[in-house]
Amino acid sequence: MPAGMTIQQPVTTMARARFFRLGAAAILLSAVAVALTASAPPGRQPPSRRLSAGAATSNITPPLGELIVGNWTPVPATHVHDELHARCLVLDDGETRVAIVVADNVGIPRRVLDEAKRLTQKQTGIPVDRILIASTHTHSATTARGSEREDATEPLDRYQTFLAGRIADGIRRAINNLEPARIGWGRGSLPEQVFNRRWFMKPGPHLNNPFGGADKVRMNPPVASPDLLKPAGPTDPAIAFLSVQSDAGRPIALLANYSLHYVGGVPNGHVSADYFGVFARKIAQLVDGGADDDRDRRARPFVAMLSNGTSGDVNNIDVRGGQKRLPDYARMELVANQVTAEVFRVMQSIEYHDSVPLKMVQRELALETRRPTPKLIEWARGILARPEGVTSEFPRERIYAERTLRMADMPARVEVPLQALRIGDLAVVTIPFEVFAEMGLELKARSPFQRTFVMSLANGAYGYLPTAAQHELGGYETWLGTNQVEIEAATKIVTTLLQMLRDLR
Ligand SMILES: [Zn+2]
Repeated sequence: MPAGMTIQQPVTTMARARFFRLGAAAILLSAVAVALTASAPPGRQPPSRRLSAGAATSNITPPLGELIVGNWTPVPATHVHDELHARCLVLDDGETRVAIVVADNVGIPRRVLDEAKRLTQKQTGIPVDRILIASTHTHSATTARGSEREDATEPLDRYQTFLAGRIADGIRRAINNLEPARIGWGRGSLPEQVFNRRWFMKPGPHLNNPFGGADKVRMNPPVASPDLLKPAGPTDPAIAFLSVQSDAGRPIALLANYSLHYVGGVPNGHVSADYFGVFARKIAQLVDGGADDDRDRRARPFVAMLSNGTSGDVNNIDVRGGQKRLPDYARMELVANQVTAEVFRVMQSIEYHDSVPLKMVQRELALETRRPTPKLIEWARGILARPEGVTSEFPRERIYAERTLRMADMPARVEVPLQALRIGDLAVVTIPFEVFAEMGLELKARSPFQRTFVMSLANGAYGYLPTAAQHELGGYETWLGTNQVEIEAATKIVTTLLQMLRDLR
């Protein structure tokens, strides 16, 4: 335990009231704090100073005509159902300043986010490794990947440039809004809306993979299929959140985290932030109802954001059957209502702290990319040499033949950014992949912090990240091309993140 720990203890609202009444005691206590700081050995953390926070939202809606890429075939956007946003929160403990951004996109590649961070550092001085930017994984946003085959030497395209600039502007505006603040966190649970989407099934053609073989599990099997056996993995029902208020109790921001891929139910061609956007709207109505008649609230609007946890294998479809078919957009409203209600319920009993230590570390982890074998390359060439439209008992052969050849051209390794952020006794870790639920559960169980949550698709987007055990089972997420990095990647990432969390203690 570091020296001065008692002084670092967060001050509750009640304790703070008493603090002000007992002015003399306060002066005495600060004297003790100063004495403890002075006597603290080098390298020890001094008592935290006053927290400040600011938040802002940038509109990142693309022009119509840009390509929506959540599904197998990209379609041009023909309508905006609801605007897309980059929602930004800046926290500062007097010593460390960090920015957290949650952006409505299916997965923003690293080089776009690096450009947003470069601009931010240039304009505001926040170092690039104190900036966390995650995608929500809405499947109804337009692509931020640039040309289908991303080439790092090509300049950013129009939407990528716009997106990077808007994110940097959002962080800068959040900094403009900084004010003394207090922060609290909590955790609710909503098991009813998360389903593991990978299923063990009785043998049959439904287990065929594109490569001419059979898997042990199948992603998104047909609803109520008689061949269903059991799900291939767990779900994580937790809804973690942190809530930030001004000294006067005006809500500044709320960052929640739930491990659900997305909800969907969006017509073709529609741009929508999915249930992530609905949550932001609904929780604002509950938390910040009087916003319109209050000048402070108009000047610094409340910003709510819902980040994606570990949901690479988790969706909102109960394949055992029984879910009602709902009109477009109705299911996302339903799920968002339940997430909102659960967060709001737990919010009523959380404790706020006006000084918490903030600490953030970032590491680059080198991972080998998966290489197709010569035999697989030969298979891919054979498939692509066939005339188009040939039917086959193996699904999506052509797509995976193309992806196989593309994987052969990938660099032999990629460096992926990992981050760990400490906010008092709460820890947040980030992974730039679509992460399986069991990884999130493992990180939470083994973290040295009382509370930990995982933001996925953060600081980059490198595809699916199955665990080594899930690779054994096969299925869509493990297919070469859907998954791009070595089989041991998940294990290496967990090990590295746990080390980083220990470094934050
Ligand atoms: Zn997805």
